[in-house]
Amino acid sequence: MKLKSYPVKGKFGKFGGRFVPETLIPALDELEKAYLKFSKDRKFKMELDYYLREYAGRPTPLYFASNLTRVMGGARIYLKREDLLHGGAHKINNTIGQALLAKKMGKERIIAETGAGQHGVATAMACAALGLKCEIYMGSKDIERQKLNVFRMKLLGATVHSVVMGSQTLKDAINEALRDWITNVRTTYYLLGSVVGPHPYPMMVCDFQSVIGREIKQQIRKLVKKIPSAIIACVGGGSNAIGTFHEFLDDKISLYGVEAGGKGFSIEKHSATLCAGTEGILHGMLSYLLQDNNGQILDTHSIAAGLDYPGVGPEHSFLQSMERVKYTNVSDADAVNSFLTLSNYEGILPALESAHALAYAMKIVKNYRKNDVIVVTLSGRGDKDVEVVEQYLEMDND
Ligand SMILES: *Cc1c(COP(=O)(O)O)cnc(C)c1O
Repeated sequence: MKLKSYPVKGKFGKFGGRFVPETLIPALDELEKAYLKFSKDRKFKMELDYYLREYAGRPTPLYFASNLTRVMGGARIYLKREDLLHGGAHKINNTIGQALLAKKMGKERIIAETGAGQHGVATAMACAALGLKCEIYMGSKDIERQKLNVFRMKLLGATVHSVVMGSQTLKDAINEALRDWITNVRTTYYLLGSVVGPHPYPMMVCDFQSVIGREIKQQIRKLVKKIPSAIIACVGGGSNAIGTFHEFLDDKISLYGVEAGGKGFSIEKHSATLCAGTEGILHGMLSYLLQDNNGQILDTHSIAAGLDYPGVGPEHSFLQSMERVKYTNVSDADAVNSFLTLSNYEGILPALESAHALAYAMKIVKNYRKNDVIVVTLSGRGDKDVEVVEQYLEMDND
């Protein structure tokens, strides 16, 4: 079976699907139809290419981390520099793609959810660039914790709605955004931030992010004239990882998805959904979840705000069940350590999310020979995380 050509009608094996109120089905049908039409449309593809190139800054470099390679010993480490994109992360690949689709569909009002604020900012940027109205749902606790990102969204012309339901964080913001969409489906486009949610979102977001892996394949061929031995990416909802892996699913390459091991499984302070979760339904999809025996969603933790989500994209659950991708996890401490290492040796501050992938690369690099190549997707830059790292280093973490 060719893994790359999945999904079939929104199902990845038994995972995925559309577990939503009936009133949303016509909207999802309309979205799927429009996406299938425009994703094949030459003019749409040209416009998307234009914005990715001239606005977002694609293609991003594939950088040989020669200092890190020398210090670590083992395979050569290459970094896919999504951190150099406009906004500082891969998220703009998806928000530009969906905002352009919304515009083609004649939807002038965009809604989105955000946790730490990064997807909210990336959505507000795309909407400003394309002249669309933007409203962001955000848990009131997150609004309190992420004041600067809230201000950024406002500067970019977005309205931010505070969600005071439930735990007042990301999962509640998603629920509110879905509620808004049900009410305003005719005029409104819901711009989801990762490869999660009901079909067609996981398929669509994967397509928009797959530019990462396509570029890696071209670039690595030119640079070393062979395919890498291993490719590593961090997994929150899973969009930068799927975007990295997809082009390589049918190749003989080890693929590693790295989740947030946080402070450890024994005290249940982590967000390693595939490593420690169970099957269930959340946000319109069947996938792995962090839940208790009654199906109640557990509180999650990661030092990297972007990995702090109790679910994961259904395609990852499928790829784990097929044993095509190995999912593993890295602790807060190891992520901070790799953040410091890369900053010090390469002059690149990685996002703490990306530092998880990097930490795993540093763990396995010695198992390879000098001629082997390992690619790590640097999903974002770490300027946003310097305060968190400073606080972490000041704390007594033993
Ligand atoms: C949001 C974010 C992530 C996690 O999202 P995915 O959908 O798993 O890619 C990872 N890295 C960075 C820098 C992010 O901003």
